[in-house]
Amino acid sequence: MALLEAYDLSHSFDYPLFDNIAFSLTCKDSISITGVSGSGKSTLLHICSTLLKPNRGYVKLFDEDIYSLSGGELIRIRREDIGIIFQSHYLFRGFSAYENIELSTLLTNSDLDEKLLEKLNITKVLEQNVGELSGGQQQRVSIARVLAKKPKIIFADEPTGNLDSKTANEVMDILFEYIDEVDGALMLVTHDEKLASRCRQTHAISH
Ligand code: ADP
Ligand code: MG
Repeated sequence: MALLEAYDLSHSFDYPLFDNIAFSLTCKDSISITGVSGSGKSTLLHICSTLLKPNRGYVKLFDEDIYSLSGGELIRIRREDIGIIFQSHYLFRGFSAYENIELSTLLTNSDLDEKLLEKLNITKVLEQNVGELSGGQQQRVSIARVLAKKPKIIFADEPTGNLDSKTANEVMDILFEYIDEVDGALMLVTHDEKLASRCRQTHAISH
């Protein structure tokens, strides 16, 4: 079964962004989306992750046309089945790193995997307020928060943007291991060609 199918997606805001993008992701599959800044990478990720409706085309998640789902079903899919790592990670200020991660396990009734926190190298900062953390640490906390709820499909918008190349590669290892473990899939937006080439499929948005 395909976890995600995108059919002939086209979208424009002030100017046309992309036309007729089609791809599908099966279990353990991954696709990278590359393109210059402003080419529509984030827009495409938002469309595939249910946050935005395209001008043309449609998206199926887990074999269901997402535009024919009820509001309640859509919320359930967003909460439990997909995980979105945003380009600007929205951590809750005023809360500790641990509280931020714990929240997502509470929402989905899942157990927190301590190994994940070790792999992401954030065990030492768990008690700290997220406002005190460096950009790279915040990014790793936000990745932990998404993986902690054990989604099937990970949508990652430049998840390694704030990280040095060694840490970036380690974070990518974690994402690939994760989708292998849970039979999931990954859609990765990046401007790093090397990271992009680690995905099984690659798509470059061009103008
Ligand atoms: P990328 O992620 O490749 O840098 P984006 O998908 O974020 O590109 O944005 C592509 C273009 O669409 C940009 O010019 C951006 O300003 C515009 N854009 C993005 N979101 C909106 C929106 N909600 N309303 C109007 N224009 C938007
Ligand atoms: Mg973007």
